[in-house]
Amino acid sequence: MRVAGTVQDSIVDGPGFRYVVFAQGCPHRCEGCHNPETREPDGGTWRDVAGIIREMLSNPLTDGLTLSGGEPFAQARDCAELAEAARNAGLNVWTYSGYTFEELLAKSASEPDALRLLAATDILVDGRFVLSERSLDLAFRGSRNQRVLDAKRSLASGAAVERG
Ligand code: SF4
Repeated sequence: MRVAGTVQDSIVDGPGFRYVVFAQGCPHRCEGCHNPETREPDGGTWRDVAGIIREMLSNPLTDGLTLSGGEPFAQARDCAELAEAARNAGLNVWTYSGYTFEELLAKSASEPDALRLLAATDILVDGRFVLSERSLDLAFRGSRNQRVLDAKRSLASGAAVERG
């Protein structure tokens, strides 16, 4: 898959110590994007998914995987593999997406890999970054329109459920 980078031991992309994969490529083009260098689909570097999984699992202190970007759902198959490997190893999975949960649910109806990624996600931080809604006071998100959702309960009910 194409990645903008990976980070070990992040404490800002979800709770605990996290292994973070910044997927390269994003179609959303938000004004004021915080990671503009991650937007071009041909940018970043090519990494073997199995190698990323080995790196993720090499640190016993890691609590979870965070998929960020860029747009993880633009590389849904590879990100689903990462998320499933993390879950199988007992790690929790946070996924950041510029798509809303409702958009992802619609996408999942015709894209099995999007459904796989959604199903392997514990917490979904959804929605595009909206500059006029920006706030530095929000935990784990950049603008007020974005939501921190319980992906399991949202998927089971077919409607967005905020993290408890
Ligand atoms: S979704 Fe994120 S990475 Fe994509 S353009 Fe918006 S802010 Fe940038």
